[in-house]
Amino acid sequence: MGSLNGHNQLHVYFFPFMAHGHLIPAVDMAKLFASRGVKTTIVITPLNAAFFSKTIQKHSSSGRAEIQARIIDFPAARAGLPEQCENLDFITSRNLGMEATINFFRASTMLQEPFEKLLEQDRPACVVADMFYPWATESAAKFGIPRLVFHGTSCFAQCVGEALASHAPQQRVESDAEPFVVPGLPDEVRLTKRQLSPSAALVGGTSFLSQLFKRVRESYSEVYGTVFNSFYELEPAYVDHFRKILGRKAWYVGPVSLCNGDVEDKASRGKGAVIDKDECLKWLDSKEANAVVYVCFGSQADFTAQQLREIAVGIESSGQPFIWVVRGRNDVEEDWLPEGFQERTAGRGLIIQGWAPQVLILEHAAIGGFVTHCGWNSTLEGIAAGLPMVTWPMGAEQFYNEKLVTEVVKIGLEVGVEQSSTYGVKMIRSEAVERAVRRIMSKEDEVMAEMRRKVKGLGEAARKAVEAGGSSYADLGALIEELELMS
Ligand code: UDP
Repeated sequence: MGSLNGHNQLHVYFFPFMAHGHLIPAVDMAKLFASRGVKTTIVITPLNAAFFSKTIQKHSSSGRAEIQARIIDFPAARAGLPEQCENLDFITSRNLGMEATINFFRASTMLQEPFEKLLEQDRPACVVADMFYPWATESAAKFGIPRLVFHGTSCFAQCVGEALASHAPQQRVESDAEPFVVPGLPDEVRLTKRQLSPSAALVGGTSFLSQLFKRVRESYSEVYGTVFNSFYELEPAYVDHFRKILGRKAWYVGPVSLCNGDVEDKASRGKGAVIDKDECLKWLDSKEANAVVYVCFGSQADFTAQQLREIAVGIESSGQPFIWVVRGRNDVEEDWLPEGFQERTAGRGLIIQGWAPQVLILEHAAIGGFVTHCGWNSTLEGIAAGLPMVTWPMGAEQFYNEKLVTEVVKIGLEVGVEQSSTYGVKMIRSEAVERAVRRIMSKEDEVMAEMRRKVKGLGEAARKAVEAGGSSYADLGALIEELELMS
């Protein structure tokens, strides 16, 4: 068993998958543990460490428990990738494509050996390792260390994944577009095969990814427990289902983004923002409360120029003030904005090309709605900010999160995406964008008023959950206590 270090201080290792959607919450989680007196170490590669060095330095000078980074090299070249490819966001369908994504996962499996070397040297009391490192349980066990898994998604999505794996309803439909009920869940959830996450879609295959996802799924039952970036009040039926029906040990410690108290912390999550935080706040301050729609599709989204033009026309026709985050398009010559768009929307709209200070923006009083791809971090950040959402899932488990938002918790509207991008991208027309944006921002619509009231309540519940006496605060305390007793 791992041990408390020389000063009787618990030492927890965090080992995130090298993609922003996994790194950002892992670093927040490390900060959370450190705020409760736990020494934390983040295992990270050199280029990714650079994104967080300021955060870590700032934390260390605050007098709270130490957060250290342990650097391991990412074997990009050995896996056939460019040297600098240390983060999944380096890969787009336009530059390196699917083969590179697979190689990125291959490179990630090669981290086992250097990771074990670190464990041998540091002997932490516990390892919180990403779901994409299924071998981490065995690595930790070599040194008698318990391993917790971090999926980076909702408990709801995890329960859907488990139900699909054990009941396989997707194998009993006649076509990929035929809806089926996911059995055994607290709510009636319908999906089609085209909306499944890759781990469910690739079941039974022999490819590297199929085998990896199989191993990932199997590893869930081997871990000591699961740490969720979620909170009880958001998905109580699924927290209970996971614990009582699936019999899994789990702790709900989120929303972890709320550990970022000041403007600087909020603005500096992940990559450096391409817009100055003060400039961004000044722009938002000039708008009325709840007037601006924020449109952002996470760190991986990769739209065609044609789809971007449809989005542009949609948000322009909605008449709403907006902030629209567009992932860097420096590698594309093609025009992606309709002619005269910038002039016509000057003052009303702000396009951020590249990384935006998302949490800072979402929490501003001027923001009244969020068009999101339903990545779990973004979804939870939107909920914590009390914002109704337009859901635009693209892949991974995002269609499951969409169901949670639109049908289970009922705090958002679908824009109408029918299938994961791996099935081929279907264009969402400007009319659908306009309709959804108008509706989500509407002050007259009664259904929307109810959604807004509900999500505001959940935002307040999220804040209470992470404060002393709240459910997430208590869960984190219980986990730390359990780890201390085991050490
Ligand atoms: N994010 C950000 N600025 C951006 C894009 C993304 O700060 O311009 C953050 C966002 O706040 C979230 C994370 O990156 O914490 C994205 O994670 P998510 O699970 O939403 O989506 P993914 O990128 O994994 O698809």
